[in-house]
Amino acid sequence: SPIVSLQRVSKTFANATVALKDMTLDINSGEFVSLLGPSGCGKSTALRIIAGLSSPTAGRLVWPDARPGAQPGAQDHAISFVFQEPTLMPWTTVFDNVHLPLKLKDQSADASRKAVMEALEMVGLERFATSYPRELSGGMKMRVSIARALVTKPRLLLMDEPFAALDEITRFRLNNDLLRLWQEFGWTVIFVTHSVFESVYLSNRIVVMAARPGRVVADLAVDAPYPRD
Ligand code: ADP
Ligand code: ADP
Repeated sequence: SPIVSLQRVSKTFANATVALKDMTLDINSGEFVSLLGPSGCGKSTALRIIAGLSSPTAGRLVWPDARPGAQPGAQDHAISFVFQEPTLMPWTTVFDNVHLPLKLKDQSADASRKAVMEALEMVGLERFATSYPRELSGGMKMRVSIARALVTKPRLLLMDEPFAALDEITRFRLNNDLLRLWQEFGWTVIFVTHSVFESVYLSNRIVVMAARPGRVVADLAVDAPYPRD
């Protein structure tokens, strides 16, 4: 069964903007799904609704495997969200930034420490655990924010144009890192982008959206058109 099903999900804002109209989509385990489309087509709105940060005005979300009574969302660590800005706390170290989501979790200090270092290793920043965000480049800060999203081992990783603020070469490197991590660990990812390049290069499924009203216009399976090794 899918991790989450969107069933005719619509969102109309108070000012009558129809940000999303009848979006129907199953997200299956292990998929790397891109939501691709121009600005204003409802990509972020869809992601925020899946994350539980916003509620649909019509339609519904179904989480077939959720624990009875649980409200899947960022608060119970089923989902992690990576935003366009790394949003790190500047006054504390890389280690503490990545450790933050674990503070809400009931696990030993040793287990938390190990989880943080593993997450930092995944993104190649284990040597920077005691650095402060201001000492890092933009690409490294984004890596820290990815490590912070992964440290809880989420069932679903949501990324909202995570690399949009970075220069092209850094962005390309991070695309490669993300692809390698996904191939190794097989997470389920929903990746919002308006880059055709990123969607084709990274994902195995591309959901194309259009604006006014925001809606799905194509849902494509992508079988690695370029060699990936
Ligand atoms: P995208 O992420 O594809 O750029 P968004 O989901 O951010 O698109 O926005 C979809 C549409 O909804 C746009 O027309 C946007 O201006 C509008 N919108 C987004 N958030 C709000 C809001 N809080 N109130 C009113 N309109 C909004
Ligand atoms: P909910 O579904 O929980 O009511 P919304 O999706 O309506 O949340 O709102 C998402 C975010 O957009 C909130 O942070 C809210 O403050 C902001 N917001 C809501 N309406 C508007 C608006 N008309 N213009 C700008 N921002 C808005």
